[in-house]
Amino acid sequence: MLLEVRNILRIRSLFLIVLLSAALLLAVMVSPSQAPPQASTPSASSPQGAVAGVVPSPFGAQAQQAGLNIVVLDPAHGGTDAGARGTGGIRESEIVLDFAIQVRHALEAQGFQVVQTRQGNEDPSFDDRSATANAQRGAVFVTLHVSSTGVPGSARVYVNSDLPPATDSNGMIPWDRAQAPFLDLSRKLGDLVQGFLAQHFKGSPESAQMATVRQLRTTAIAVEISSVTVGDRADLDRMAPGVADAIARGAAAFKPSYVVPNTRGALP
Ligand SMILES: [Zn+2]
Repeated sequence: MLLEVRNILRIRSLFLIVLLSAALLLAVMVSPSQAPPQASTPSASSPQGAVAGVVPSPFGAQAQQAGLNIVVLDPAHGGTDAGARGTGGIRESEIVLDFAIQVRHALEAQGFQVVQTRQGNEDPSFDDRSATANAQRGAVFVTLHVSSTGVPGSARVYVNSDLPPATDSNGMIPWDRAQAPFLDLSRKLGDLVQGFLAQHFKGSPESAQMATVRQLRTTAIAVEISSVTVGDRADLDRMAPGVADAIARGAAAFKPSYVVPNTRGALP
């Protein structure tokens, strides 16, 4: 009996402790949540309060950055590396730099931000050019070349040839296979640009071709026009607006289908 009373007392005191704790907890939880309405009530009707209400969330900002906004434009060769040379003194490195100006303007007109791997007659290493490309999130890489072969006045797009997807023991993609997740995207962009090039330049293929493009952890295409063998440089210069238009329209058409592959070790 006594034991029972003691138990009841013990239970009652325990119950009180629980009740008290709950009340304390409630007080702690309620007080900070009451504070903001009191503080914000005067500002809620003020213009400041209205502005604060439309500030985009960090998630919104992330979603915006995930899209395709940047084109890394690579005028190939440069410096001591003139690239292909014609008998008439035409140098590939000079032609592609001039082409890049028009390509850049056409891309900017489509709303893209353009990052160039070189601005003048310098010769960044392949690593430097890759680093420029790989530093960008939500970017595609377009390298410009002039060949010494092919039907003069035609243009071709090359994308990387297939590489089997492979991961090392840590589940990371080895550097030389890092482009594999981007092959499908590269082919899609390549086919779109090639389609527009074919409209401008007779004798050009209808779809992109495979070649070994230097490994890049991004969506990459090579655009090559023919050729340094033309006697008059003006024959090549005349192609610049069409090449610029094809790349810009191709990139714009590609933009909605750009999805960053969700693969460990791969950066967009
Ligand atoms: Zn070249």
